[in-house]
Amino acid sequence: MLTRNQSLKILLVEDDLADATLIEDLLGSFSESLFRLETVKSLEIGLGCLEAENFDAVLLDLSVSDSLGGSEALAMLKARSPTVPVVVLTDINDENTALSVLRSGAQDCLVKGRFHRTLLVRAIHYAIERQRIEEQLRQQALRERLLGQMIEHIRSSIDASSILQNTVAEVRQFLKTDRVLVYRCQDWASQLDGEEQKGAIVAGDGLPDGYTENQNINAALAVSCFVLVESQSVQAIADIRAAPLAGRCKELLADCEIAAVLSVPIWKSGDWETANTKLEETVWESEKIEDIAENYLLLPALGKPRVESSSAPDAAGKNGNILWGMLTAYNCSGVREWQEWEIDFLQHLANQVAIAIEQSQLYRQLAIANQKLQQLATTDGLTGIANRRQFDRVLMLEWRRLAREEMPLSLIMFDIDFFKLYNDFYGHLGGDDCLRQVAGAIANCAKRAGDLPARYGGEEFAVVLPNTSAKGANVVARKICDTIADLKLPHARSSIGPYVTLSCGIATVIPCTEASPDTLISRADSALYQAKTAGKNRIFHASNESETSPILM
Ligand code: GH3
Ligand code: MG
Ligand code: MG
Repeated sequence: MLTRNQSLKILLVEDDLADATLIEDLLGSFSESLFRLETVKSLEIGLGCLEAENFDAVLLDLSVSDSLGGSEALAMLKARSPTVPVVVLTDINDENTALSVLRSGAQDCLVKGRFHRTLLVRAIHYAIERQRIEEQLRQQALRERLLGQMIEHIRSSIDASSILQNTVAEVRQFLKTDRVLVYRCQDWASQLDGEEQKGAIVAGDGLPDGYTENQNINAALAVSCFVLVESQSVQAIADIRAAPLAGRCKELLADCEIAAVLSVPIWKSGDWETANTKLEETVWESEKIEDIAENYLLLPALGKPRVESSSAPDAAGKNGNILWGMLTAYNCSGVREWQEWEIDFLQHLANQVAIAIEQSQLYRQLAIANQKLQQLATTDGLTGIANRRQFDRVLMLEWRRLAREEMPLSLIMFDIDFFKLYNDFYGHLGGDDCLRQVAGAIANCAKRAGDLPARYGGEEFAVVLPNTSAKGANVVARKICDTIADLKLPHARSSIGPYVTLSCGIATVIPCTEASPDTLISRADSALYQAKTAGKNRIFHASNESETSPILM
């Protein structure tokens, strides 16, 4: 904006001596300080002047001799100095010419001999103002485009840490600051869950080594969080040295080589009351931070009221939000007067980051819930090993895979002997406990990658053994029966002996795509039946290369 005592430096490009003298007279008749006019007789010299120094505006004769006429001179001038306001002077009193030069970038067009002093001066002032507004709009459009791109980047990821890292890098580049970081303040929610989350720098750009662990910077950031909560606003300090901060706090920031700071809050929706109470309880928890905070807040410094430890900040609860953390830009190289648009820009971005973080957390929770659901859907509730559904699924997958590989697939089926009588004697809960012990023993004995111990149903168990021959399956079955024997689980009603025993059927095939896994199940089941009829407590092979002798106890 112009003020009365500012003189304007004007470049006049005019080859007609009479016209030049007229303009000089018109502008020169003002008090000397208002205009400083420099007249040149050719476009070429004019362009040279513009390159060498800054002018507030140019008065350009459209028909200056060393141009091709028309808007040519204007185009050349604008190409050289795109942001200098230009008022065109022309002999042609024609509306089309005027429109054409305006479209080519001139701010105004005056017809020679048809303007007086006031009109010329006003045209110069208006031209400067129009150019300034145009430039502002251009900058705003550019910022909005960049902001749009950044938001696009933020939204294109669901991984919180990469969102934050990209954001700080882009902000630093865009604001041309020395350091940008995201600080996550103490997480009161997780603290309620018992696992305390301390405040920490979670993303940074331009940070020197060891910065994130720096006690001083972490203390300063924790205090800034408090200031943001208290003010429900941003923290913008142009000059740390000149800011009315306590000496200790200045030292702290100076130690971290910070000259100017801009911090905006990252709010997350939630119960503000809880957050606020928790903030009070936790921000002051460390002695060190408490000291610093005391010094920091003592002062009318930031224009904020002194926080009494007994009362919550006044603005608490107004927007119902919880402070998740903050986005902070530091200038180290010197004082920086933060512009309104810079503050708005950063706050807008922080709001988007908050949404992205919330979405990313929801996504994570969903993934965990899905994982749990998947586990529930595939695990037997009583014994904790795979359930029938998972058994069917894995058996089918292995069947297809081994059909392709033409490798053997073995299946062992176990059935607890006299289990009905066990239940009758020990009760159903005793029976459940026995099932859990047997399942545990089976799972412990079939641990190779790909082995799948499962509860087939009731008191029957199965083990899927991919890439395992009949001989190998026999080893596993034997190990399981021996382990059960070693457990010596009392069975008062068994006709075999004093302990729980298993009967076991084994089948082994090289699968083929024409047959289904049911054939394997039915063969293992028949072998199991044979083991039962042969006297129980034994292993039987579908191939009849049987191991029929009872398991010794
Ligand atoms: P066999 O020696 O011939 O195998 O006879 P068995 O008594 O073991 O076999 P039967 O099929 O007659 O009985 C199986 C018993 O397993 C009947 C049922 O009460 C019991 N059972 C099945 N599922 C469960 C369970 O989840 N918990 C308990 N406690 N018992 C179960
Ligand atoms: Mg049974
Ligand atoms: Mg049984």
